[in-house]
Amino acid sequence: MSGGDHLDFEIRPNPAPVGAAERAALLANPGFGRIFTDHMVTVRYADGKGWYDHRVEARAPIAIDPASAVLHYAQEIFEGLKAYRLDDGGVAMFRPDANAARFAQSAQRMAMPALPQEAFLQSLREIISIDADWIPPGEEGSLYLRPFAYASEVFLGVRPALEYLYLVIASPVGPYFSGGVKPVSVWVSPDFTRAAPGGTGAAKCGGNYAAGLVAQAEAIEHGCDQVVYLDAVERKYVDELGGMNVFFVLDDGSLATPPLTGTILPGITRDSVIRLAGRAGRRVEERPVSFEEWREGAKSGRIREAFACGTAAVITPIGTIKTPDDEFQVADGGSGDVTMGLRRELVDIQRGRAEDPFGWVSRVL
Ligand SMILES: *Cc1c(COP(=O)(O)O)cnc(C)c1O
Repeated sequence: MSGGDHLDFEIRPNPAPVGAAERAALLANPGFGRIFTDHMVTVRYADGKGWYDHRVEARAPIAIDPASAVLHYAQEIFEGLKAYRLDDGGVAMFRPDANAARFAQSAQRMAMPALPQEAFLQSLREIISIDADWIPPGEEGSLYLRPFAYASEVFLGVRPALEYLYLVIASPVGPYFSGGVKPVSVWVSPDFTRAAPGGTGAAKCGGNYAAGLVAQAEAIEHGCDQVVYLDAVERKYVDELGGMNVFFVLDDGSLATPPLTGTILPGITRDSVIRLAGRAGRRVEERPVSFEEWREGAKSGRIREAFACGTAAVITPIGTIKTPDDEFQVADGGSGDVTMGLRRELVDIQRGRAEDPFGWVSRVL
């Protein structure tokens, strides 16, 4: 990037980066979120001073005072997106501007100062540039980028903090599903909800995840991969999964997905699916879908496929649904054609293998 909006990050290269042989060994089987690159981005904020000390430095533990506000009141937000190796050897991100905008919205909801979106985008380009050798080789690998910010002020009073730290770390990841895409099973939590009207459901904050871990553990106990949440008011409508949005494919070929009323996270994959399906002439309805409609529709054939979507796994078929007193499958419990077609289309755009009709691919290198 050049031009007047260029923002200078001070680059302090890691004096002891991981050697090439060790890195290659790590990249051979990176898993998800377990290994990290040599660098991180840090930017500080102080009330009255604004954002300062934009830096790329060696990834290292951060000293944190025991009275740091985030440890007590969880004022924290994050993002997640991937950088991909293109067929021509270049590197690109997928819709990073949408992550920048959502990060700013999350900040607003959590009473945090918004990092300027251009600084957010530049921070991603910086870490990708310095750690590009960490992008796993092969079709399915990518570099998962995790920008986040937290209240670093040393203060136990209850009010928005006056100091924050923004960071970006990067984690090479392999295919989410080793051995091909497999349908997941979901547990419909009878007791726990994720987000209520007026709450933080639309903000990407760690607190939403903390509140959902007990429900996720319940899902695992019942042999399911993921939890699906119903709305907090009537316990009737499907909201989303713990970290993924949900879609239904109806027998007329149309799609339905819960609307953005403030209790679900506005996924960028969700938005991409809506646009791709719409462009292909498919009707997409953003409307409430009751659990009863799902159950009846799966049994009658009215609902032919269901899938979850999010950056990490892209698009994942939902095969089996369990509640305390019922268990059913969508179609034969396998991976539906519409689901897998949308998945392929999206992945091909992300990897630069297909035309990019919406200008979603943002080349870095
Ligand atoms: C991040 C997230 C999603 C998916 O969003 P993408 O932008 O598609 O990755 C869905 N639900 C929750 C709760 C999330 O945190």
